[in-house]
Amino acid sequence: MLQFAILSIMNIKTNIPFSELTTMKLGGPAKFLAEATTVQELVDLYRNAKRLGQRVLIIGGGSNLIVKDKGFDGLVIKNRIPGFSVIEDDGASQTIKIGAGEDWDSVVARSVDMGLSGIEALSAIPGVSGAAPIQNIGAYGQEIADTLVYVEAYDSQTDTLVKLSWEDCGFSYRHSIFRGSAQGRFAITAIVLKLYKKSPTPPFYAAIEKYFEELAITDYTLAAVRNAVITIRTNKLPDPVQHPNSGSFFKNIVVEKWQANAILEKYPDMPSYKMDGDHLKIPTGWLIETADLKGELLHGMRIHTGNALVLINESATSYADLAAARDEIISTVRDKFQVTIEQEPLEI
Ligand code: NAP
Repeated sequence: MLQFAILSIMNIKTNIPFSELTTMKLGGPAKFLAEATTVQELVDLYRNAKRLGQRVLIIGGGSNLIVKDKGFDGLVIKNRIPGFSVIEDDGASQTIKIGAGEDWDSVVARSVDMGLSGIEALSAIPGVSGAAPIQNIGAYGQEIADTLVYVEAYDSQTDTLVKLSWEDCGFSYRHSIFRGSAQGRFAITAIVLKLYKKSPTPPFYAAIEKYFEELAITDYTLAAVRNAVITIRTNKLPDPVQHPNSGSFFKNIVVEKWQANAILEKYPDMPSYKMDGDHLKIPTGWLIETADLKGELLHGMRIHTGNALVLINESATSYADLAAARDEIISTVRDKFQVTIEQEPLEI
């Protein structure tokens, strides 16, 4: 009885398939689904779910989420908390507080229009702002950890609203505590970024340099970098509305030097980039392509011809199909190069 009363007061829907909530368009049902447009709504939803003995999952745009066929037996909350305000200006920089439900790319567009640098290379990344710190989104030489000052969050363990500093977030390459040791504990309600009033300076990543060269652009404005990234990404990544996908399905891999050297002995043309003393980054797209998998259709999943990091759900009917395709790709790459590539989207 209590359950039904709460469901109707809080506008909670039932049994919504994750194929409608994720851009990969796969996955079983969400038992309950609600939207939070304020911090208080989010906290109330959490507390009521706890009273009813339900687990909680926070989602944004569903662009980096894979759900198994059994779905989620609990309450799914779509984070729609808005907000964009300058909270400090020291002359050289502005500190901006952004609601976790704000569309990330609109935030980038706005910061570029304001002449603020720090996230312009993170243009055209799908999803909401609150999801950005979770995997420490990064592209073309920038990552959100470079500009993030703190996040505000609801701590479901202590039932309090907290501020987590940059150090607390435990950032590393495409990783943070939010997808590691503290997964499922915090619901991010706002992020705070410090952006600088300056223009981007070369050197840029090769793809951006090439774009500038082709268009004879020598005035490296924030808008020029944003346009370059949007063009590069649009050409490489399929539109999820037409071709269901989760963006890069595999992470670019970081390996030990000796592992990279072993591959380089056989494939001297393999691209690799120095990380720290003992580690190198290898483009996973190159590994998949060199294993002759680009363009293949495995269990209804197409390995995208424009970018082998992307899997398109062409005719898969279940998570099981996706998992079979993923495992086949991982084992083919492992057999050929003796390194293990990893899935990037979070999975529940
Ligand atoms: P890409 O630009 O060829 O990058 C492939 C890999 O090579 C990446 O790991 C990238 O490092 C590295 N790389 C390329 N040029 C580099 C340079 N000048 N210095 C250091 N490292 C360099 O193709 P891609 O895989 O499509 O990636 C494009 C961009 O999107 C990359 O920056 C990539 O990290 C980013 N991306 C981000 C996510 C995410 O946030 N979850 C997912 C997929 C791709 P970096 O990764 O350090 O940039």
